[in-house]
Amino acid sequence: TSMEYRYLGKSGLMVSCLSLGGWVTYGGQVSPEVAQMCMKTAYDNGINFFDTAEVYSGGQCEIDMGVAIRKFGWKRSDLVISTKLFWGGKGPNDRGLSRKHIVEGTDASLKRLQLDYVDLLYAHRPDPDTPMEEIVRAFNYVIEQGKAFYWGTSEWSGQQISEAHAVAQRLNLIAPLMEQPQYNMFHRDRVEKEYLPLYKNFGMGATIWSPLASGLLSGKYNDGVPPDSRLAIEDNAVMKRLRESLESEDGRVKIQKVTQLGHIAQRLGCTTAQLCLAWCLKNPNLSSVITGASRPSQIEENVKALQVVPLLTEEVMEAIEGVLMNRPVL
Ligand code: NDP
Repeated sequence: TSMEYRYLGKSGLMVSCLSLGGWVTYGGQVSPEVAQMCMKTAYDNGINFFDTAEVYSGGQCEIDMGVAIRKFGWKRSDLVISTKLFWGGKGPNDRGLSRKHIVEGTDASLKRLQLDYVDLLYAHRPDPDTPMEEIVRAFNYVIEQGKAFYWGTSEWSGQQISEAHAVAQRLNLIAPLMEQPQYNMFHRDRVEKEYLPLYKNFGMGATIWSPLASGLLSGKYNDGVPPDSRLAIEDNAVMKRLRESLESEDGRVKIQKVTQLGHIAQRLGCTTAQLCLAWCLKNPNLSSVITGASRPSQIEENVKALQVVPLLTEEVMEAIEGVLMNRPVL
């Protein structure tokens, strides 16, 4: 496979259209060695963009991904590394988007990653308790210090992002460049509707998460929860909630749809995961689709989604809409 690189929004930075993140998995579910093998497989397939966060596995994700980056001796200029700040610890000033936490949190993340700078720094959530001017100034300070090149948001509303742009314009400061929203066949409205003015008016790029809805869209949960899967993890509240949601009416309907998507994939000669990733990649407003993987074979499979994109004709896209029945009303 040959990887495709896209500009991150209107910037001059190029990110691989498929990227790899460490949520749940690296520093938690799998050993450092497995994390290293996954990252090497990604890198060898042209993935240059790796995503983590201060909160992932209480900081261990950054540590394990940092070790992998060192181990293989990759050139720093060949990598785009991102981390995200919001939940940095238990103390009252270890969380949120105060200037104090943004500055201290960045330093702590860089130390865990063993890096001098990250390429991208995200505000992991909006913080309505901190003035927008403080947030915009703090991210600009970190960028001026050379500790990050670009800053962005994650799961902010279109309204909140527009406010950040207005503040940055008024103060002649750098505005957020990219959003990191959830996006997959079951979760579409923000990316396909609410954010449209952001792409157009601000040149923002979307770097989306959970393209397989935590693996649901690979079809692996169609016949129950495999013991070696993310949803089988016992001591994780988010995974417990996802596991239980499979039993609900909504969950059953979703599994039915995944089964039908599997038939479409079969006709195209690809896997369900590849179909669902290719469907994301077709959206031109996405700069990168951030995938996750607990083993190298998943990455080998997922990067081949690039070859499926040209197979998604209008007819196939309509067949997919016929299964999903959730096209956002514009
Ligand atoms: P996905 O929805 O792609 O789920 C990835 C998981 O699905 C893998 O870890 C694996 O889990 C399973 N999987 C992947 N490929 C296959 C395959 N081909 N066949 C079978 N199973 C497969 O993405 P994530 O939910 O991991 O999100 C990706 C990244 O996005 C995160 O790592 C993180 O960097 C970012 N993120 C950001 C958030 C934010 O708030 N900004 C929130 C969540 C994620 P397993 O093998 O264990 O079952």
